[in-house]
Amino acid sequence: MIRIEDYIPIVGAPVIDDLKLLADKLKGKKILHINSTAVGGGVAEILNRMNPLLQQLGVDSHWGVIKGGEKFYDVTKKFHNALHGKQVEITKEEFELFIENGRMNALEMPLSEDIIFIHDPQPITLIDKKNNNKWIWRCHVDVSNPQKQLWQFLNEYIKKYDAAVFSAPAFSQQLPIKQYLIAPSIDPLSDKNKDLPEEVINSVLNKYQIKKDKPIITQISRFDRLKDPVGVIKTYKLVKKYIDCQLILAGGGASDDPEGLEVLEEVKSQIQGDEDIHILLLPQDDIIINALQRASTVIMQKSLKEGFGLTVAEALWKGKPVVASNVGGISLQITHKYSGLLCHSIEGAAFAVKQLLNSPSYAKKLGENGKEHIRNNFLLTRHLRDYMLLFLSLYHNEDVVYL
Ligand code: UDP
Repeated sequence: MIRIEDYIPIVGAPVIDDLKLLADKLKGKKILHINSTAVGGGVAEILNRMNPLLQQLGVDSHWGVIKGGEKFYDVTKKFHNALHGKQVEITKEEFELFIENGRMNALEMPLSEDIIFIHDPQPITLIDKKNNNKWIWRCHVDVSNPQKQLWQFLNEYIKKYDAAVFSAPAFSQQLPIKQYLIAPSIDPLSDKNKDLPEEVINSVLNKYQIKKDKPIITQISRFDRLKDPVGVIKTYKLVKKYIDCQLILAGGGASDDPEGLEVLEEVKSQIQGDEDIHILLLPQDDIIINALQRASTVIMQKSLKEGFGLTVAEALWKGKPVVASNVGGISLQITHKYSGLLCHSIEGAAFAVKQLLNSPSYAKKLGENGKEHIRNNFLLTRHLRDYMLLFLSLYHNEDVVYL
C-alpha cells in the first residue's frame, strides 16, 4: 500500500507536513464524493487515487456512484456534448428523465455527511436533499461555451450549493455562490504513472504486436468525438508522407459514455489498410496505459474541448514531448515551445509532430520542462491540499478565500 510518506522524495517533506496539519483540522468531518462512474475517464481516475490518501491522512472521506440506466446515460452524454458547446436539442422528456433519475438515487442515499462533494452534472440534482450540511459542485468539463438552455437548467441547481469548483479560469461562470479554481492532478505513484522496467514496456508492445522499429505517435483517450481521434489519424497521415512512423490510438470505454463503440467504428474506417495504425480497445489496465505512454516517441492530445486532459499530465510526467490542442485545461499544462507544442489545426499538429520527430534533443528538452511543470503544479499532493483548504473554507464566512 502506498503511504503518504512515499511522496516525500517527489515533493519534499514540508508539503507532506502541511497535508497532515490540514487533515488534523478536518477531524470529525465526514465527506462523501459522488460521481457517475467508478471506472473510465478522468474523474474516476482522480477519485480512485484521492480517496485512499485522504483516508490515510485521517480524513473520513468516502466515494459513492449514482445509478442510471442506458437512457439516463444517453441524456447525460447529450448534456456533456452540449456543455462543450455542441448544439443539441434536449427535450422536456429528457430533462424529466434526468430529474427522475436523481430522485431515485436520492431515495437510496442518506446524504447526511458533513460535506457532499458532487462531481459533474450527472448527480447534480441530489442537492435537493441538502439539509444542514455543506455541498460542493465540482465541474470537471470545459464549460467555456456551454449551451445556454442547458446551463440555465443546471444553474437552478448550482446556486443551491455552497461552492462551485472549476478547473481553469476560462470556465468560471457568473454564479451567486463562492467559486474556486482547482486544477486536477495525477498520482506519480499510481500504476498509471510509476516508473516501469523496460521488460514490462516491451511485453505490452509484444502483446499488441507493436514493434519499436519506427517512431511511435500515441493518443490515449476514450473514443469520443471531442478527443478528435479522426483528426489524430489525419495528422499522422500528413506526417507519414515525410517520416516513416506508426500511430497508436488507444482507449477503453467509460460506463457512463454510451457513444464509444460508434466512434470506434468511425475511427476504424479511417485506417484504410495501413498496418502502422494500431487502434487498441483497451481493458481497464493502468500498466498497459503507462507502458504505451512510455514506449511513445510523441504523445498527442488533439481534443476539440478539454476540461483538463489528465492524459497530457501523464505524458509530461513521463518526460514525453506532447503535441496538444490549445483548448480548455490543456493550456494550463503546456506553455508553447517550453513544455510542449500547442496546435490549432490538423496541419499545425502535423508540423509540430514532424518537428519533434526530426529533433530529438528539442523533444527531450520539452519533455523535461513538462515534467517539472507537472511536479510543481499538477501532482495529487497539491490537489489534496487545495481540497482540504476548500473543505475548511466552507466553515468560514469570508467572502473571498485564496487557495
Ligand atoms: N484512460 C484509461 N483508459 C483508457 C482511456 C483513458 O484509463 O482507455 C485514462 C487516462 O489515462 C486518464 C483518464 O482516463 O487518466 C482520462 O482523463 P482525461 O482528463 O484525459 O479525459 P476524460 O476521459 O476525463 O475526458
